[in-house]
Amino acid sequence: MISLSRPLVHTLDLNFLGIPNAIASYLIHHKHGAVLVECGPGSTLKALTSSLGAQGLTPRDITDVLVSHIHLDHAGAAGWFARQGARVHVHHVGAPHMIDPDKLLRSASRIYGDMMDQLWGEFLPVPEEQISILHDNDEIEIEGLVFRALDTPGHAYHHMAYLFDDICFTGDVGGVRMRRCAPGPAHLRIPTPPPEFHIEKWHESINRLAAEKFSFIAPTHFGIFNDPGEHLAAVKTGLDEIEAWMENIMPGNPTTDALEQGIATWEKERALADGVDIAALESYEKASPAWMSAEGIRRYWSKVRDV
Ligand SMILES: [Zn+2]
Repeated sequence: MISLSRPLVHTLDLNFLGIPNAIASYLIHHKHGAVLVECGPGSTLKALTSSLGAQGLTPRDITDVLVSHIHLDHAGAAGWFARQGARVHVHHVGAPHMIDPDKLLRSASRIYGDMMDQLWGEFLPVPEEQISILHDNDEIEIEGLVFRALDTPGHAYHHMAYLFDDICFTGDVGGVRMRRCAPGPAHLRIPTPPPEFHIEKWHESINRLAAEKFSFIAPTHFGIFNDPGEHLAAVKTGLDEIEAWMENIMPGNPTTDALEQGIATWEKERALADGVDIAALESYEKASPAWMSAEGIRRYWSKVRDV
């Protein structure tokens, strides 16, 4: 049920790489401006600024940015918003990397190489005095809007979900789910990037979210859904399926190419079986590339299982 007391949450499509529904930023107005939950990467600032304009806002009206975690597709533009005057709220483990992003950017450059700039654009540091460092269960109060941060590792160690009235913004721990034209079951993809993907921690985080009360769930990839119970159950099923797949494939010590190809094929078959159309498949792939998931699975397998 929609809570009448809650301000409207606007879903802004950042149109990442020209693909709709790949990365969202959520906007909530207040008396003296607005809050963003997730701000996307630097490369989508033009789209974000124009969406803000359509809401009668300029970037300087954004007083606060809440990021779920510091991956570039979620937090890349936070430093730019800080330059416009915003405060940036972030998990305590991620905070030092927002203040001094050198190490983060070096490791991202190793992964993305020449594509770095085209994909992610500029990542500016956030001045220390504009950072709000979050711990589990912290409440953030902004002009009468109240958010609660929930420490939810599994996708990344430094990950917060945010409860806001009857919505939970789940970053990436709620998986990747695209809106669909036709009714049908939720299709969830589990993004398992290196270096911190961890199945057991992820299950615990989903149990934690399931124990909270909310009516809507909003993964950053992509949109607001009104079936949080089914959604979270689908994340757990997705984790179980990944685990079974991994236990089948990894003992054979596949090459990087074989692993990438294997996960891409497997994800595609799962999606088609769930009735996902080809256009939506592209959004899934942009939001959670198979090669990245393959790397995360390899890392988890060698760190946690194969010891
Ligand atoms: Zn992520």
